[in-house]
Amino acid sequence: MAITNRANGLCVKLLGEAGGLVDSGAVASSRMIAMTNYAFPPPPVPALQVEGSDALFPVGRIFCVGRNYDSHAREMGQANREPPFFFMKPPNALVPGGGKVAYPPLTADLHHEVELVVAIGEGGGIFGYGVGLDLTRRDLQGAAKKEGKPWDMGKGFDGAAPVSALRPASQVPRVDQGAITLSINGTERQRGDLAEMIWTVPEIIQELGRYMPLAPGDLIFTGTPAGVSALAVGDRLEGFVEGVGTLVVEITTP
Ligand code: MN
Repeated sequence: MAITNRANGLCVKLLGEAGGLVDSGAVASSRMIAMTNYAFPPPPVPALQVEGSDALFPVGRIFCVGRNYDSHAREMGQANREPPFFFMKPPNALVPGGGKVAYPPLTADLHHEVELVVAIGEGGGIFGYGVGLDLTRRDLQGAAKKEGKPWDMGKGFDGAAPVSALRPASQVPRVDQGAITLSINGTERQRGDLAEMIWTVPEIIQELGRYMPLAPGDLIFTGTPAGVSALAVGDRLEGFVEGVGTLVVEITTP
């Protein structure tokens, strides 16, 4: 879409009925997107810092892969592995760079899941990588599963997606192996290796792309190794992915 300047602000040219571009001046004002005329200020664009750059990475969608580290499934051979499954968190669940996260409401069983996060850039390529925490209200998720209901309220709450600054892909030598760990108050709780992922990063991107085209700004949480456990107010979490970075989060009072 082309953008034209008008005296009353920015307007976006819209596709005409025949599918071609029409001049914005000929379009009824009700069909124009007047950038200066929202009913209220639009929500801020969630964004991540990029190492070595002043430019922020604007976050569009947050996809997550379900169970993706399973040594048993791997020893059963790749032919028998289940296709990956996906869920989403709303972009405003993002906590850029980590830091303080308030213990969320309606749960008594908040869990940590440390994950490698893949960031999609222009052209659908990999922009960079980060360290993420897929925070989960496990009790709500479990109840939803049991009743065959959606998980969203277990996974998509405010603060549910802390992610570190992104390291550009050109500076990450490999993500097919490398340690992934999480410690709480200095005690290691999760340890795995990226090599244990049932579905590799390229495979995840290919599979997810079958459901919908990926777009610049998309983040993909790629699953967590064993060792998830409950968090308490005051806990200090340190997530680490070898070659990618570190993420520190502190759970604070609601
Ligand atoms: Mn997860």
